Amino acid sequence: MSTIFAKIIAGEIPSDMVFQDDQVTAFRDISPQAPTHILIVPNREIPTANDVSAADEQLLGHMFVVARQLAAEEEIDANGYRLIINCNEHGGQEVYHLHLHLLGGRPLGPMLTRRT
Ligand code: 5GP
Repeated sequence: MSTIFAKIIAGEIPSDMVFQDDQVTAFRDISPQAPTHILIVPNREIPTANDVSAADEQLLGHMFVVARQLAAEEEIDANGYRLIINCNEHGGQEVYHLHLHLLGGRPLGPMLTRRT
């Protein structure tokens, strides 16, 4: 089942797109959780992190390189940022088209709410 991200990648619905090549598309999150909140999405539909295979290794590395480039363009590289991939229900995944969140521009706090 296609998600809204397929339509964004195809340009069928608007987004604040910051990067696109033949492998990935990156656009600003509609509900940003930090001053920079960009989603880096493979153009090919991979639903979740459970669905990646060895054949995707180059693509997954490319997503990481694009994230690093965008962090530099956003000037959040020196202070730092967070890269997140959520998987399925316990991971809090909402859109079932694999994506890497790039978050930065403010101190992001602890990765998870700490259990006492
Ligand atoms: P997930 O929870 O699946 O890891 O993250 C999905 C993200 O997609 C959320 O942060 C949500 O705000 C974002 N999102 C959902 N629908 C849209 C949309 O139509 N456009 C954009 N730009 N972001 C979206």
